[in-house]
Order: sequence, then structure tokens, then C-alpha cells
Amino acid sequence: MTTSSCYTCDREAEVDALPPREVIAIDEHWRVAHAFDAALPGWLVLLPRRHVTAIAELTDAEAAVLGTWQVRLSRALHAVTGCAKTYVLQYAEAPGLGAPGFGHVHFHVVPRAADLPQELRGPRVFGFLEREPISPEQMDAFALRLREALGEHAAR
Ligand SMILES: [Zn+2]
Repeated sequence: MTTSSCYTCDREAEVDALPPREVIAIDEHWRVAHAFDAALPGWLVLLPRRHVTAIAELTDAEAAVLGTWQVRLSRALHAVTGCAKTYVLQYAEAPGLGAPGFGHVHFHVVPRAADLPQELRGPRVFGFLEREPISPEQMDAFALRLREALGEHAAR
């Protein structure tokens, strides 16, 4: 049982025991996870390792590698999924209607396939979070492929 109200900080507290889908890559400032509620394989979230609820609260040191991670993850997604490009989105809002615990800053890095239907393009890509998510086993398998693509930048 935990009394914490932050999903991301709860995961951070057990970082050494996390499955591949929760720690695809990690450094001093950022952790990369597969979105736990995504129906789209490869939907990643880039998470600051301390509790931050607004981008303005990031330190210069955290900011300095933010862009590097966004581009590195995009390259890995191109290699693994063959996507045409990636979306990078950040709202730090709770999903659904008032679900607590998701105010922690998280940059979504989403593979955008060449044939993605028009009704799921741009911000409408969040429609993938309203469908049945892929299984944790599928997320772990995908995480391992991404780690391979990330090479020396992957976790463990
Ligand atoms: Zn947090």
C-alpha cells in the first residue's frame, strides 16, 4: 500500500525492481517508460525523476538533456516501428475525468505511422488512450526492442 498520490513517483520509488516497460532508458534526470494505458505499441513517456508539475520547474541540468532524449527516442521509434515521424506532447493533466495522480510532467513521444488514419492525427492521437491497451507482455517485448535500438543509451 502506498499513500503517495503520484503514479510516476510511486514507480520511481521502486525503480530497481521495475519491468522493462517501465524503464526503457534512464539517466540521472529522466526515465523512459511505455505508456501503461496506450493501445499503440511504442507510445513512450519521458519522465523527470523528481516530482515536477510544470515545465517551468525543471532545472537547467534537466532541461539540457531533455531535447537529446526526445530526439534519441524518436530515432529509436523510427528504427523499431518504421514510423514516418514522432509526435511530442506534454500536458501533465490527469486522463479521464479527474483521475488523481497524473500531474507529474510527462512528455509523450508517440510514433506516427505513415498510414495513421486522419481521425487519429494531431491531438486526436490521444484516442489511442481510450481504447483497450496492449498487454504488459507486449509492452515489455516492445521495450526490449527499443532498448536494442537505443544501444548504449538503453537501461541496463
Ligand atoms: Zn511525481
